[in-house]
Amino acid sequence: MSRGSLARELLDFFLPAACLGCRDHLPLERTSELVCGRCRTRLRELPWPRCDRCGYPLGSRAVPGPACVECHGWGGELTGARSAVVLRPPADDLVHGLKYGGWAELAGFMGRRMARCAIPPPLASGPYLVVPIPTTRRRMRSRGYNQARLLASAVSEEVGRPLREALERRHGGPTQVGLHPAQRRANVKRAFVVRDDAIVVLSGARVLLVDDVLTTGSTAGAAARGLVQAGAAEVFLSTFARACPYV
Ligand SMILES: [Zn+2]
Ligand SMILES: [Zn+2]
Repeated sequence: MSRGSLARELLDFFLPAACLGCRDHLPLERTSELVCGRCRTRLRELPWPRCDRCGYPLGSRAVPGPACVECHGWGGELTGARSAVVLRPPADDLVHGLKYGGWAELAGFMGRRMARCAIPPPLASGPYLVVPIPTTRRRMRSRGYNQARLLASAVSEEVGRPLREALERRHGGPTQVGLHPAQRRANVKRAFVVRDDAIVVLSGARVLLVDDVLTTGSTAGAAARGLVQAGAAEVFLSTFARACPYV
């Protein structure tokens, strides 16, 4: 190792950690916060008016109704959804940092944001179970954790409802990125199984599924189908971010 690169490494070691949203250095006393104040204010909630069922922004002239173009194709098993922020900088960097960057600590910040503004209204009162959307064993092995499980744990703690890992992923399957919605639906159709030890608690229960990002809803729809077939009364979804291409 050259003297120059050694000096650089030493410098990096002693410098404050960078914000995971914008890579700017965080002040030393705030490195544990992971996300700088500017990025926190740049995180944008989904604009109003929103779809009653899925929370999607409808545009200024639309009238909120029981469903919208985004959720009308969802199966009846997924009753509703809410997301905390629009998937755009810096939210996409946070999602990426949690999923691929090994920054498991981000889940606390993101989960608290979800508990504050991404709980579907019908769940404002009464009991429900918090259930993470599981990842595949292969991805679990390579990453060491399931980002949805970490988010679900943070949400569960914040809302005071129990966490239950009720689902398992049946098979790996290719990544969903870049696929047409119809292909996604076909891929995820039989992707989930309900764990035997969860059947009893699911019976008649309301469930809040938790994931990092909501894109088409096909993954959550498949998970919801499994849960309802296993006896769950109602299934909702909460995600940290939502893909809103036109916002
Ligand atoms: Zn930042
Ligand atoms: Zn909708």
